[in-house]
Amino acid sequence: MTPSFPQFEQPRLGEPYLLTPGPLTTSYAVKEAMLRDWGSWDDDFRGMTHELRTGLLALLGEGAEDFDCVPMQGSGSFSVEAMLASFIPPEGKALVLANGAYGQRSALTLRYLGREHVVLDKGDYLPPRGDEVASILADDPAITHVVAIHCETSSGILNPVEEVSEAVYAAGRKLLVDSMSAFGAIELKPSEIRYEAMVSSANKCIEGVPGFGFIIARKDELESAKGNSHSLSLDVHAQWAHMVKTGQWRFTPPTHVVAAFIEALKAHSAEGGVSGRGARYTNNRDVVVAGMRELGFETLLDNRWLSPIIVTFFCPADENFAFDQFYNLMKEKGFIIYPGKLTVVDSFRVGCIGQMDGNVMRQVVIAAKESLDEMGVSSATPPLQALEERAKLAA
Ligand SMILES: *Cc1c(COP(=O)(O)O)cnc(C)c1O
Repeated sequence: MTPSFPQFEQPRLGEPYLLTPGPLTTSYAVKEAMLRDWGSWDDDFRGMTHELRTGLLALLGEGAEDFDCVPMQGSGSFSVEAMLASFIPPEGKALVLANGAYGQRSALTLRYLGREHVVLDKGDYLPPRGDEVASILADDPAITHVVAIHCETSSGILNPVEEVSEAVYAAGRKLLVDSMSAFGAIELKPSEIRYEAMVSSANKCIEGVPGFGFIIARKDELESAKGNSHSLSLDVHAQWAHMVKTGQWRFTPPTHVVAAFIEALKAHSAEGGVSGRGARYTNNRDVVVAGMRELGFETLLDNRWLSPIIVTFFCPADENFAFDQFYNLMKEKGFIIYPGKLTVVDSFRVGCIGQMDGNVMRQVVIAAKESLDEMGVSSATPPLQALEERAKLAA
């Protein structure tokens, strides 16, 4: 059965759709919510901050009462840094599960923070598996925390956080999750997956505009995080304690971004919450993947690992294909695509998140077909090397 979706307005005159994993295409209502000013200390804005925190917590479902939500100014990476610095004590040691740029960024962040850490590096896109995590933890009792990326946005892989969590807690360690690009569209229920804290931001699956991130953590972890952070402005415990006491952010909040976010949360709820949002994105992915495969394109990942967030396609082998030209032709047709991040073969990415539905994704496929025709590319089949690379996934 095809789910039914709300009507999608075209972006404003001449504005292209952003097929990118945030900033992404937002609704007019979200943009419009920013057309007034708020005093950060005023009751009205305090009420908005409260609404934002309780609205996000509600997305956890059962077990949410053990958690609290701490918004943090800045882009998503600021919140990742805040989470790592606040929950991994200076004498702790982390295992980072990396299979792309965001896992690598977490490891780099720990280096800046001077936190001892080891990295399980799976390369560009292979998933970290539960048994690998179990064996690393068994060999290294000094590891206190494991850092996992929920959807690794650089390839679009949906990592198996559930089996990772089982391995982590079976070994008596703690899990921190970067669910930046997944939260709001893919469930992360504490009743099903155990973790201490997770992080996401305003401009991903909730479809707000950029300007803050948020950490959702167990209250006892928030309590015991006092004194861990190296940073005044990124101290999650301090931000939380201040917010609980005064209802305010410690330093200037992104007032307009918060207002837009509240509008975005309303739309998220009207769409059916996490499952409704996830269903639309899944349909977006299915439409674009089927259409692109019909043109001869191949996805980097097997269906099993394809997230409903963003999909990596190999660039065609045809010598007339040039990514920059393809990008510009797609942009002329109203679609901003995203370059790939693979080190071995050329690729590009198409985001499935934002104010878009299956009809928009069908237009994306038509635009891709027209762009290939204009470039004189007769087949979108990738080079043999790409397919060989992919075969490693199955092995
Ligand atoms: C977007 C994203 C981030 C944060 O990136 P910013 O550019 O700092 O907002 C972190 N992790 C993942 C997995 C992401 O998708």
